Amino acid sequence: MISSRVSGFYRWSLGERARWVARWGGPSDGVAAERVNILCGPNGLDLTRADQMVENVIGLHGLPLGVALNFVINGRDVLVPMAVEEPSVIAGASFAARLVREGGGFQTDSSDSEMIGQIQVIDVVDVWSARFKLLSAREELLQCANECDPVIVGLGGGARDLEVRVLEGTPIGAMLVVHLVFDCLDAMGANTVNTVCEALAPRIEEMTGGRVGLRILSNLADRRLARARCMIPVEALDTDDFAGEQVARGIVEAWALASVDPYRAATHNKGIMNGVDAVVVATGNDWRAIEAGAHAYAAQSGRYCSLSAWERDNQGNLIGTLEMPMAVGIVGGATRVHPVAGLAVELLGVQSARELAEVIVAVGLAQNLAALRALATEGIQRGHMRLHARQVALAVGAAEHEVASVVERMIAEGHVRPDRAEAILAEHRREVNPGSHQRGQ
Ligand code: NAD
Repeated sequence: MISSRVSGFYRWSLGERARWVARWGGPSDGVAAERVNILCGPNGLDLTRADQMVENVIGLHGLPLGVALNFVINGRDVLVPMAVEEPSVIAGASFAARLVREGGGFQTDSSDSEMIGQIQVIDVVDVWSARFKLLSAREELLQCANECDPVIVGLGGGARDLEVRVLEGTPIGAMLVVHLVFDCLDAMGANTVNTVCEALAPRIEEMTGGRVGLRILSNLADRRLARARCMIPVEALDTDDFAGEQVARGIVEAWALASVDPYRAATHNKGIMNGVDAVVVATGNDWRAIEAGAHAYAAQSGRYCSLSAWERDNQGNLIGTLEMPMAVGIVGGATRVHPVAGLAVELLGVQSARELAEVIVAVGLAQNLAALRALATEGIQRGHMRLHARQVALAVGAAEHEVASVVERMIAEGHVRPDRAEAILAEHRREVNPGSHQRGQ
């Protein structure tokens, strides 16, 4: 197996990069050639295929597709295709994955692929006894749900649970919401769950005497969670200008703000979604569904907050964790229709939707690390400015006893530049020794 750790990849030509990626996983020569044709030849998404996918097609809208390197996830080297228009996202993910690699890579985990379908019941006279009737008929309703998708049920998925919520204080009075929990296995599941909800509606109306309104999947997929964890040895965070210890502390401090403040949390989570969405898009999954689920989950406590957490372990290592809903599929949707999306899933080497979800959350965590590290070092940069200013003052000829005053004035002005250092130094000398205008006196 080739390693995902490649240095100088960005210096290769586009063709060299595509040919190298096409060899990922050791395919035959024919498959590798076809992969190159899909990536940058004639076999990507064409107009005929696009015209079958959505309505009123008039053309194609391209996005750059790159690969993030250096990822190790559960001990496996992973090459991560990312479709994104924003610069620095792929480089950031690759850089963070390299840091995490030094701590052994990402560990990931996920729950079953359980989605929730909602069936709204209105005009119910006695909501609590209607709820009782529905819960008593749980087995019958689950069986009815399972009849809708024999393929998923045959593969071991299907209806898992039924919950009935009474919502008393709505603008139109009390109503019931039935939650059908359905394990969608390797499908994202929206079509499947919507079909099931529609099929259950008549029986639910009969049982409750009410009227069914909405019958649709919830994008708050809080029973379909994926999580990733990483450990970065503090020395791996050393830079030329900052000790790893400072960087680790800065990252935890930056996260602390996001954990309590929605204004910061929104941007913190946007950074996570930079990585998440790029893989979701590359694999042909529904990024609106993922976005909706992520932000609803981030606000589930009643206050919108950070999706990730950063802390230190006993040895001072930096530990990051991210848990979020991840309703993605490797069957259905556009994944098998869009040639590049199909290839992206193939390159990732994932065998199930859960595995894909776990990779995506690992990428989200890497992206979060890259952003926080940059922010933490820029924040620390303010302290670093003093050192920098000292060097600038010395460089323009300030004597040791003059340095402090030149540094203080440059920092107070907010301009640490040789021209300012020179002017301030001359001014300082005039103040101290009004007769002298000569530099170095
Ligand atoms: P789908 O209906 O295309 O495919 C799912 C089907 O694949 C299953 O019903 C099953 O019969 C079959 N299948 C074969 N092998 C399977 C396996 N191993 N595991 C699971 N199923 C298997 O797609 P879907 O996933 O039900 O729906 C996804 C699409 O729905 C996306 O395109 C999404 O954009 C769209 N959508 C989303 C929303 C929303 O998020 N609110 C609403 C409506 C539609």
